[in-house]
Amino acid sequence: MTLARRDAVVVVVGLGGLGCPAALALARAGVGTLRLVDDDRVDGSNLHRQILFGEADVGRHKLDAAADALLREAPGLRLDLRKTRLRPDTVDVLVGADVIVECSDQFAVKFLATDAAFLQQTPLVVGASIRWIGTALSVGPFGGPCYRCLFEDIPSGGQASCDVSGVVGPVCGVVGGVQAQLALRVLDAPGLGHPDAGHGTLVRFDGLADTLRTHEVARRPGCPLCGVARSITRIDGARYAPPSCGDE
Ligand SMILES: [Zn+2]
Repeated sequence: MTLARRDAVVVVVGLGGLGCPAALALARAGVGTLRLVDDDRVDGSNLHRQILFGEADVGRHKLDAAADALLREAPGLRLDLRKTRLRPDTVDVLVGADVIVECSDQFAVKFLATDAAFLQQTPLVVGASIRWIGTALSVGPFGGPCYRCLFEDIPSGGQASCDVSGVVGPVCGVVGGVQAQLALRVLDAPGLGHPDAGHGTLVRFDGLADTLRTHEVARRPGCPLCGVARSITRIDGARYAPPSCGDE
């Protein structure tokens, strides 16, 4: 069953543990164009969770290896490869997307994608996975709620490294799959921001308790991005701290 519109453009930010399964599911679902955004190369120590890559891909640019794998699975897929990290000066890679699937493990990238998506009124699905816990949040084109309604800003003091905290491959697989499902729900909705798109849905998977729970996130009136007194009205590079951890 093909769910996705063939004219749809989905941007996947980060081809790591979340982006690999998300991109694969979207390609197999029939999405017309996948625009992939990453600047990294395949690392042998991450293969357990980066399911598009094999030993023979180690050292290749992730997007070249991902393109080969995705076109094997979905020959009719159109790919738009953007070999860059998402930064304030490269944020134009998000323009024209029907939905953005954010799969990095960088808080700075998540907040940048959140702000840019809201400012260009594009739906966004933000994912995260650390150890046995993973989450995915569907954000509507007009916020209410957005990622900043949950987490106001980039945490001070940096973030734990993946190498230190550990990432469980199958948990990434679940979360990446859920992100693809939430994105397909957006594409399948009858209009931009339609209630059927499921915006405001937070899915949380606990791989130790074997639970997958859905929460409806509330809009936060004081949110600096989508609240009543908005203070973020443009992409200001100084707002986004440089990445502090390698690829997801
Ligand atoms: Zn908000």
